[in-house]
Parts: sequence; structure tokens; C-alpha cells
Amino acid sequence: MGLSVAFYLRQLLPEAALILVEEEGIPSEQGASHVSPGILDKGRINPEKAAPYAWGYEVLKHLAEETGIQRPDKVFCASGILHFLVQENGSLGSLNPEEKKAIAQMFSSSPAYWDAQGAYASAEAASLFFGYGAVKSGLDLMLNTRVEPSGDNKLKLQRLEYNRMMQRVVIKEEQISTDTVVIALGTKTAVFVEAGWGELLPFRQVYMQYPRIEADKRLPLTDSRVNLPILQARGFYFRPQGEGLLVIPPRLAPDPRGYEPSGGNLLGVRVGVRREILELFLEAMAELPILGWESLNLGKTAANVRGAWEVVTAKGEPEWRQVDQKAYALVGGDSLALGLATAYDLAAHLSKLNTRPWTS
Ligand SMILES: Cc1cc2nc3c(=O)[nH]c(=O)nc-3n(C[C@H](O)[C@H](O)[C@H](O)COP(=O)(O)OP(=O)(O)OC[C@H]3O[C@@H](n4cnc5c(N)ncnc54)[C@H](O)[C@@H]3O)c2cc1C
Repeated sequence: MGLSVAFYLRQLLPEAALILVEEEGIPSEQGASHVSPGILDKGRINPEKAAPYAWGYEVLKHLAEETGIQRPDKVFCASGILHFLVQENGSLGSLNPEEKKAIAQMFSSSPAYWDAQGAYASAEAASLFFGYGAVKSGLDLMLNTRVEPSGDNKLKLQRLEYNRMMQRVVIKEEQISTDTVVIALGTKTAVFVEAGWGELLPFRQVYMQYPRIEADKRLPLTDSRVNLPILQARGFYFRPQGEGLLVIPPRLAPDPRGYEPSGGNLLGVRVGVRREILELFLEAMAELPILGWESLNLGKTAANVRGAWEVVTAKGEPEWRQVDQKAYALVGGDSLALGLATAYDLAAHLSKLNTRPWTS
């Protein structure tokens, strides 16, 4: 989100001096973007947001053209989504017999409809395009630098390095003041704003986990990759990932403050997947036999299972809000495509631009 707002600010407000401060590298391995499964399903989007979503979707699909950067990273995979267990009827797309056979073993019901627009995208790869694009058009970048609020719209910058014990230490501190600050720290945004501006933002968070179906002879492979569309049933998505499938459970309710991610207990065995997700698995298992496959890897501890904190906003959508005269908070919520439109919207607002590319 920070890199995309920086990219659009360079385009829309080229006269402004702009510096982006990032605690890690690009892409960061700490943030939400590192683990996001990046499902693009318009069915999850509030219909009122269809136009900005469609704009963000096209941007993700054509990032080289949008950013003017050529990179080998693959951002977008137009796999389509096959939806199960819903009432609508429609075309099923073109599944070959091998795919049909695999799917029949995974789900007890027949496919209901096919969404050819369904896709998945890599948030990490997108951040590289926006980062390179913004630097090419004049962004100053400070990596390995943590930013802390320091009162009076000042910011403290801490330059970080690894010492011989491989611990991260602060090697230099400096203060800067800015005309405007955009705070896009993912789930750390709310705490940062509270510490610096004393304002409580209505952002909550939930720890989501994505266990994997490992390589399994029932999964059809082409060039060592699972050859299936994204499959959606009972709010679960199953997304091809290498020789296996990533299991994306339905969104959980926000966690109480202070919740520490920890694994659950399945038939007396400790596993890495949290209890609330195991309960969803058990409820859905009769309709989704795939959740009973022995190749489903639930991990031994929470640290073994791909997972991340996700920001939950009041409307469940990405948003920016003005914190005071000079500070803006920007969070991604649950949608990459809408997140990009939100980043553009903030850049356009700061540039005093009234038009948006998704409005005619
Ligand atoms: C679990 C999960 C599932 C998702 N699923 C989907 C999905 O299926 N489909 C979809 O479209 N979208 C999905 N999203 C949404 C999308 O991936 C996110 O909205 C987006 O990646 C968030 O990006 P961000 O820049 O807001 O946050 P982040 O990627 O977390 O970036 C925040 C950055 O701030 C840096 N930082 C933090 N603190 C400091 C500091 N003090 N100083 C300097 N730097 C700092 C971090 O290193 C990080 O690079 C999901 C998100 C999550 C978390």
C-alpha cells in the first residue's frame, strides 16, 4: 500500500519531495503482503465498489504497462474460480477429464458456476513493480529503517543493522519533520497512530492461517504445478501452489487485543492450525472430503503454518482516513485490487485531483 501510494504520488504530484521509509527490504518479509494468498474474487466485494475494484484488477493484470517496469516476477494468474455448493447455475468453463476426476474426489457436490474473471495475484511481486516504478520516477527510499512517532508531527528514524549475533540493532537515530505523512504500516498502523497522535482508529485484526495440501497423487500436475482453477466451496478457497494447494479458510471474527497465535488440538494431537479454523474444517468436512486428505499439512506449531495478521476495518474494505491536518492512515483490508484503488484515491486527494480513473 505504501509503495503504490508513493508510485501514484510521483505521477500525480511530481513537484513534491517524497521519501519512503521501510523497516525491512522490498518486498518486506514481515508485512501482510508477504503471506497474502491474493485471491481476486469479485463476489467478495461490496457491489458499490465494483468500479474501483475493476480498475485495481486491470492494474494488477497489466503492472508492467502501469509502472513502466519490466520484471521477471509473475504478478497475476488468471486461473478462474470454480464455485461449489451455491444455487446458481452456469457454464463450468473448460475442464479436461483429468481435472474433473480430481475435483470429484475433493468435493461431494457438483460445481455450480464458473467465474472466468477469478484470479490470484502476488502482492509481493506487485510491491516490486510499484517500488521500482516509484524510484525510477524520483522516490527516495530508506530501507532497513524503522520509523517511530516523535511528537509535533516529527518522526524518529532508526537505521537498523544485524550485529554479529544476528540481532537487529539500531545503529543511528535521527529526527525528521514532514509536511505530510502517510502511515501505511499494515497491522501496525493503528498502534502507530495511537502512540503518535493519541487517536484510536477503529481497526481490529485477525490472525489468519493457510495450511497446505501437499503434493498428492489425486492432484493433476502440468510441469510440476497443480493444473486446476481456484476452487471455492463453503467460503473456503483452494488455490494451486506448486505441486500442492493452499487452503484459504473463511475469514474469522477479529481477535481480542493481546491474542497470541497458537495451534489447536485435533483428536489429542497438537497441530499448528488454530482451534477456530479446525472447527471450520470439521463442520465442512462432509461436503469437502479434501479436508480429510492425509496430505493436508496442519503443521506442528503455529510457526509452521503460513499465516499473518490481517487488518479488519469497520466496512471490511481497504481505507484511508485523515488523522490530523498532516497525517493520513492507509490500510489494505481484505482486497489487493480495492487496496490499489484506495492508494490511488489517497494520492489523488493529496494532489487535489477531483477525477479518478474508474469514474467516467
Ligand atoms: C492474511 C491476509 C489475507 C489476505 N487475503 C487476500 C486475498 O485473498 N485477496 C486479496 O485481494 N487481498 C488479500 N489480502 C489483502 C492484501 O494482501 C493486503 O491488504 C495488502 O497486502 C496489505 O498491504 P499493506 O501495505 O497494507 O501491509 P503490509 O504488507 O503489512 O506492509 C506494511 C509495511 O510496513 C512496514 N513497517 C511496519 N512497521 C514499520 C515501522 N515502524 N517502520 C518502517 N516500516 C514499517 C512493514 O515492514 C511492511 O513492509 C490479505 C491480507 C492478509 C493479511
